[in-house]
Amino acid sequence: MQNKLFIDGQWIAPIEGNTLPVIDPATEEIFHHIAAAGVAEADAAVKAAREAFDNGPWPRLSGKERAGYLRAIAQGIRDRLPELARMETRDNGKPLAESEWDLADAAGCFDFYADLAEELDGEIETIKLADARFVSKAVREPLGVAVAIVPWNYPLLMASWKVAPALAAGCTMILKPAETTSLTALELGVIAEAAGLPKGVLNILSGKGSVVGQALVDHPAVDKVAFTGSGPVGSRIMAASARDIKRISLELGGKSPFIVFADSDIEKAVEWIMFGIFWNQGQVCSATSRVLVEAPLYLTLLERLVEEAKKITIGNGLDAGTLLGPLVNEGQYADVLRHIDRAVEQGATIACGGRYDGFDKGFWVAPTILTGMALDSDAWVEEIFGPVVCIRPFETEAEAIHLANDSRFGLAAAVMSADDARCERVASAFRAGIVWINCSQPTFTEAPWGGYKQSGIGRELGRWGLDNYLETKQITRLVSDEPWAWYLK
Ligand code: NAD
Repeated sequence: MQNKLFIDGQWIAPIEGNTLPVIDPATEEIFHHIAAAGVAEADAAVKAAREAFDNGPWPRLSGKERAGYLRAIAQGIRDRLPELARMETRDNGKPLAESEWDLADAAGCFDFYADLAEELDGEIETIKLADARFVSKAVREPLGVAVAIVPWNYPLLMASWKVAPALAAGCTMILKPAETTSLTALELGVIAEAAGLPKGVLNILSGKGSVVGQALVDHPAVDKVAFTGSGPVGSRIMAASARDIKRISLELGGKSPFIVFADSDIEKAVEWIMFGIFWNQGQVCSATSRVLVEAPLYLTLLERLVEEAKKITIGNGLDAGTLLGPLVNEGQYADVLRHIDRAVEQGATIACGGRYDGFDKGFWVAPTILTGMALDSDAWVEEIFGPVVCIRPFETEAEAIHLANDSRFGLAAAVMSADDARCERVASAFRAGIVWINCSQPTFTEAPWGGYKQSGIGRELGRWGLDNYLETKQITRLVSDEPWAWYLK
């Protein structure tokens, strides 16, 4: 496990010697210390990335050449997948099978953007002009030095969603993982080094968001900030980026609804809701956190959900059979419990779950189902980011759509019904960037990901993810001998 910073192709100890403890959320054991970068390291990393972009080979390689490096990184992740998955689970708490899933996806993301890098070669769009005296074309070029700031819920996967398209486009990058989960992101540096990535192309700085994260965002030599995390930090990054017109993309929070009509297959509804809210301990930006059930099905579905939620095996993510691990850290644990207490104070009923006391150590919350919350209660309105779902009945389709959209967030939404036309109608009425029909949460590297409203700006994944790291240049040529000279007229 790394305890240094990756800057300009070198592993460097933090100048001021600062470190952060790495705590296993299942046992509360401190099992490692990572380096905590400061402002000086942020500056050194930006300078290295700037030099690699302005004078190094990376942006000047063909897409095919860059693709070779990306595929080597994908293979490097796959070669170490079992070891990295255990590291991710110890760091984050999630069940091992989910870590393995995330890391396979991360490797797939590098392969996907390797293919898109190749497609960039020779990608020139000829523009048809009304004025035949000129011909124009549009070319796409890497936009420069990008900073990636990522959260703790999918540590290596969220990093890959940014690093892979940035490198595919020809940008250079500084990656700042979340302070609680930096281990696999630092290993990405080891893998990139082994893949022979030129120095300065990828730099990785662990450390506090308020220190090194802020220094990177404030740095005038950075061209773009790609951020995934909370709304308040996203808003701060947007304000800081405005100073020198940095490009930004923001993937923020959500409070995603799932509308279940009474003609749905109840067992399928149970399965997708359970997955939607209890997967990754509910620490998912798109989590199915508000369930709206058509009145005739409400009580039966609620009863089945409670029954299944109580059966979920809670335990250390490293243990076989665990379906729900601990929350990521003490702060998140305290936050989620505070939300549950507040929900009760504001009139909600806990149908099942709440605090879990099955272990002496660790940050455990049982799968929790809340009912009877008011529409203006915090539980219904605010992102909880834990294994807590709010469920309520509705009478009409129009009411369900209104309740679903009545949120400052607009990341994801889902609908289930046996009536396809109704599903399509509701899907188009949702004000959300990701809509699932008859399912919830499956995520694909090829498809756009991002939110409406306060859930963010821009889209990641697919070809949209690559667009985040490209500028478009118009090149126009005069092809006529006709005099232009407007001043002679
Ligand atoms: P957070 O905003 O606290 O931290 C995210 C990252 O920002 C971390 O790396 C942190 O160190 C850094 N940071 C903190 N302060 C900073 C500052 N002043 N300047 C620069 N960087 C700073 O979020 P979190 O608690 O790690 O993650 C949870 C949030 O992320 C939730 O709101 C969740 O919905 C959101 N999220 C969104 C998506 C998505 O795709 N939309 C995915 C995962 C998580």
